[in-house]
Amino acid sequence: MEIRSLDLGAYADFDAHERVVECRDGASGLHALIAIHNTNLGPALGGCRMWPYADREEAVRDVLRLSRGMTYKSALARLALGGGKAVIIGNPHQDKSREMFLAMGKFIDALGGEYITAEDSGTSVPDMQVIRERTAHAAGISAVSEHGGDPSPTTAFGTFIGLRKAVDFHLGRRDLAGVRVAVQGVGNVGYHLARQLVEAGAEVHVADIHAGNVDRAVDDLGVTAVPVDQVHALDVDVFSPCAMGGAINDQTLPGLRAKVVAGAANNQLASAGHGDELHRRGILYVPDYAVNAGGIIDIYYQHCGGNYDDVRQHVESTADTLLEVFRRAREENRSTCRVADELAEERFSRPNSSPAPSLSEAG
Ligand code: NAD
Repeated sequence: MEIRSLDLGAYADFDAHERVVECRDGASGLHALIAIHNTNLGPALGGCRMWPYADREEAVRDVLRLSRGMTYKSALARLALGGGKAVIIGNPHQDKSREMFLAMGKFIDALGGEYITAEDSGTSVPDMQVIRERTAHAAGISAVSEHGGDPSPTTAFGTFIGLRKAVDFHLGRRDLAGVRVAVQGVGNVGYHLARQLVEAGAEVHVADIHAGNVDRAVDDLGVTAVPVDQVHALDVDVFSPCAMGGAINDQTLPGLRAKVVAGAANNQLASAGHGDELHRRGILYVPDYAVNAGGIIDIYYQHCGGNYDDVRQHVESTADTLLEVFRRAREENRSTCRVADELAEERFSRPNSSPAPSLSEAG
């Protein structure tokens, strides 16, 4: 087994990361990178992604970008956490083995608690349970709710709260009855979001490249299916990207008719300039990492041993931060994405003043 620190100063995505290590284990075939971006507010918690990266460079860029994003997300959610991420280079459908996750657990343990892992794309709760055999620094295993460790329903809940706040702020509608929402992607998060929207009386349209997921939403929830290539341009009040990143780009932005963009997907803006353009057009963009923090909040309390009331309360409190972002953006005539970044930086560049329990209290 080999673990070595990397000097990545030459990478464009390098953002004064505190530590990046490369881990190789010949016996299991594990090749992974772990990046710790910033630990001012607490240990760096972030998922362990497994993906068939084209090459090592692509994995390096991904781990740098994702770990930085976790610092911003947790700071804005007022969690006593820093930002980190791990990536395993490999195909999760072919290359996984118990030995690989045992080795990953050893590497994480060697970082002495500076980095705490959790499930992410390509990894699952059972994988985290194997990692946990070698280190205590793995979260997302002990369920505080009926969701069995899966944070998606809580992510959907937080997105619902934030979407409702945005509709109230921007459209002056106190509840969602009759509000028209287009949900792009009805997988784990999008499905639960669509359900809550329907329960709140919204008129919901959905699109997904996976026909089975569309059928499930239509059959279970009575929502309307729309074509994948038209969902962003529907005549609705809210466009809710809940699929992959980059939903707001040069091709889609000109066609947007919604007045609010609020969804769970990570990295929705192809660039910050697209956030500025949304602002210029009078469209309220709810910053992705501010509205989709329900999952990390859920995992945080799983690790700390809180109950689901704690999770729910904490998630509900994120609406106050969103309101602050919306107000600042309006007062200063700036895009919400730039205001959110600035607010997060204000929070994580100072020593921890978070009201949340610290991870040192974790069991
Ligand atoms: P998922 O894979 O379960 O669902 C994504 C869905 O989007 C799938 O049904 C997929 O078929 C569909 N899709 C992909 N490309 C599409 C396209 N071009 N048009 C329409 N549909 C498309 O993933 P998820 O866990 O629901 O996560 C959704 C998004 O939210 C991701 O961007 C993820 O990074 C982000 N997110 C998830 C969580 C969580 O707790 N799961 C937390 C924070 C952020």
